[in-house]
Amino acid sequence: MYFCLSCGTVHQITGNPDEVVFKTGFHYVRSIKYAVGLCGRPAKKMA
Ligand SMILES: [Zn+2]
Repeated sequence: MYFCLSCGTVHQITGNPDEVVFKTGFHYVRSIKYAVGLCGRPAKKMA
């Protein structure tokens, strides 16, 4: 699991080649520490 900066939510790691999970950044969600990453999906809100 990681916190996606582009979606602002927590995702499962899927192994998608566009997916990036940073080893140096962390984000707390309800006292749970998640790695920070990007799922690589375009933000649909922008359309
Ligand atoms: Zn995402």
